[in-house]
Amino acid sequence: MEIDNKRRHSEDELKQEAVKRVKSQEPNYAYLETVIREKLDFDSEKICCVTLSPLNVYCCLVCGHYYQGRHEKSPAFIHSINENHHVFLNLTNLKFYILPQNIQILQDDKVQLLNGIKYALYPTYDVKDLQSFPKQCFDLSNRAYLNGFIGFTNAATYDYAHSALLLISHINPLRDFFLLNNFDNQGEFIKRLSICIKKIWSPKLFKHYLSVDDFVTYLKVKEGLNLSLVDPRFFLLWLLNRICSSSKELKSISSKSCKGKVKIVQIGKEPEGNGPVTTKINMKPFWVLTLTLPEFSPFKDGNTVDNLPQISISQLLAKFGDIKAPSANSVFKLTHLPQFLIFHFNRFDNSSEHPVKNRNQTIVEFSSELKILYANYRLKANVVHKAIKSPSTDGNASDDDERSHWITQLYDDKNDKWVEIDGINTTEREAELLFLSETFIQVWEKQEP
Ligand SMILES: [Zn+2]
Repeated sequence: MEIDNKRRHSEDELKQEAVKRVKSQEPNYAYLETVIREKLDFDSEKICCVTLSPLNVYCCLVCGHYYQGRHEKSPAFIHSINENHHVFLNLTNLKFYILPQNIQILQDDKVQLLNGIKYALYPTYDVKDLQSFPKQCFDLSNRAYLNGFIGFTNAATYDYAHSALLLISHINPLRDFFLLNNFDNQGEFIKRLSICIKKIWSPKLFKHYLSVDDFVTYLKVKEGLNLSLVDPRFFLLWLLNRICSSSKELKSISSKSCKGKVKIVQIGKEPEGNGPVTTKINMKPFWVLTLTLPEFSPFKDGNTVDNLPQISISQLLAKFGDIKAPSANSVFKLTHLPQFLIFHFNRFDNSSEHPVKNRNQTIVEFSSELKILYANYRLKANVVHKAIKSPSTDGNASDDDERSHWITQLYDDKNDKWVEIDGINTTEREAELLFLSETFIQVWEKQEP
């Protein structure tokens, strides 16, 4: 016991000696050469890896780990001595420090390396930047990517969120407002969402893909997002409503850009006497207009994968043309067409035991242009569904267990190209072939007359 105590004592002395020795030295700016940008990941949860606290967290720019504090005995201080790592970034105020000397690197904006690191954590834009987007960019490993059209990790868990976030990021008025403004003092939700959209459009990503795992976990834990029922439509609606409840300006921009209105006239039964037919008129605003697919059963009517029923988008829209179908008792009319018209195709019956396997696989035919009433629209985004076998508990894929996978196709109007984003991969697609997949959500943009 006595020997143990002695040994501990002498270890402590040794450490204190080391601290004294390092602290007496001048801050060495040559330490900047030890920074390894490839190790930095600013998408993950910003908590100290020792204390798990989110307060006063620094990123070690040599190994990428997060540590708390700067004072003596703090995890960051101890890490700097134990590992000989000396350059740290405060993740809240974006100031750089040399530890353990605890000296701030002044005039960091004159150091290109540090500017680039700050930009990776928190991209900023001006109006001129936006005019050149999207543009071809290169990540640290010199891999080309198109900003705004980037992939994400962990698609198996969060692909629905990736699709919804990409759609929001491609509603131009919303995107511009998020990119050009600072939301640091406007609540955690808007702040985090804005950083996410700023990263999606970053021309200086360290890696050509992002992760939103931390953002979605935050929504689940702190914002009460129910993750048991999510698909891209649910998540998109949740995001739009949450955006509107967070900021008056964003509510006005979202509503102006995406909110449409449909008039529903319900016609009462033919009265027995000579009295008038009662009608009820409702004006219903919508973010997303659901287009009902004709009934479909995967096991009836000789439907096979090679022989799926097809319907054109104009046929689906006929319902909203103010025409009463013979057997219907309601008439629908689109009375306000927003700049961005969002359609949803209802493929799933969630009361079914196997909603994915028994989904409606009807193929919706569309081209990239569409005339609705008086307006011309152009297709801007298309989220498609793909059923994938999910392995059963014994590890083998079973026929009954299928799950949804979501792929996002986005139109790059600058280069007149379609880009498909599936997980971290992005691929160019032929516009003519887009309709062959199971389209689930579409965003159409109104064209200038
Ligand atoms: Zn380190």
